[in-house]
Amino acid sequence: DAAINRIAAGEVVERPASAVKELVENALDAGARRIEVAVADGGKTLIRVTDDGHGIAAQDLPLALSRHATSKIDGSDLLNIHSFGFRGEALPSLGAVGRLTITSRAGDEAATISVSGGAMAPVKPAALSKGTVVELRDLFYATPARLKFLRSDRAEMQAISDVIKRLAMAEPFVSFILRDVSGGGEGRVTFRADSETGDMFDALRGRLSRVLGAEFADNALPIDAEREGHHLTGYAALPTYSRGSSVAQYLFVNGRPVRDKLLIGALRGAYSDFLSRDRHPAAVLFIDLDPHRVDVNVHPAKSEVRFRDPGVARGLIVSALRHALAEAGH
Ligand code: ADP
Ligand code: MG
Repeated sequence: DAAINRIAAGEVVERPASAVKELVENALDAGARRIEVAVADGGKTLIRVTDDGHGIAAQDLPLALSRHATSKIDGSDLLNIHSFGFRGEALPSLGAVGRLTITSRAGDEAATISVSGGAMAPVKPAALSKGTVVELRDLFYATPARLKFLRSDRAEMQAISDVIKRLAMAEPFVSFILRDVSGGGEGRVTFRADSETGDMFDALRGRLSRVLGAEFADNALPIDAEREGHHLTGYAALPTYSRGSSVAQYLFVNGRPVRDKLLIGALRGAYSDFLSRDRHPAAVLFIDLDPHRVDVNVHPAKSEVRFRDPGVARGLIVSALRHALAEAGH
């Protein structure tokens, strides 16, 4: 029902960047190796995400737009979540707050479906060589009150860029490209990261060099540690590469970007002997653990987590980083 979709949509889609996050995560869940995002007017008039993933079969297109329809879990094990998506809320929400068109190819046939203000048009045949193209136009046109809360095109574009960079750090073997197509046509490439090669640590260093700059990558110590089923990997920068704010702190739990007080506190704790209060460590850290031992379902935006054993996660970060810093002579 359109009204319910619109209310729920507000929780999932706060601004263009949240729409981009949902769409890029869907592309990653579909196994895409190349993801292109085109945006006009800070995402307010157009967001288009093109991927080369496994696509959606024509008969499944209406289902993909139905609330709580997800192909990613069968309902028997809500906690055992390995994909980004699992709520089946993003597409119906986007279809409630903008004009959404999905064109996709699975197998030999491609098809397209559109939904606008919650009203779905019938599936039609389409031409597409591979993957999926999701186009969201005129975000919040049906809810002008929300439109007013959006920031400038520039600020919204910055937020979109941040979302893509975070996901690009988590997926170094996937190519990402962001275009600003505000002026029409091919537009201007504002971020590009080609797929990295080598082992996970090589690939991640390459990707971090691309996203955060060579200086971060050159000053970063590899982290690889384990405690009670919690695996910690990534790079932590030398104290000399600290920042005046927490801008260079990127934390991921089971591959999802998170902002979590516990983890940020642990990161600070690891550097407490080396940094004054006004300096912030820089690090990109991934914690991977059994999904049953962490709740990523705290909020629809999925950026907060709740650990079953918070002390283990914290202790692991503090000890692994202190160890790496000590090895580097600190
Ligand atoms: P969720 O990701 O939580 O399952 P969504 O509303 O984001 O819910 O997507 C609904 C369904 O549509 C997904 O479960 C998936 O089957 C399909 N889907 C969405 N985007 C893509 C895509 N880019 N490629 C392939 N399938 C997709
Ligand atoms: Mg999704």
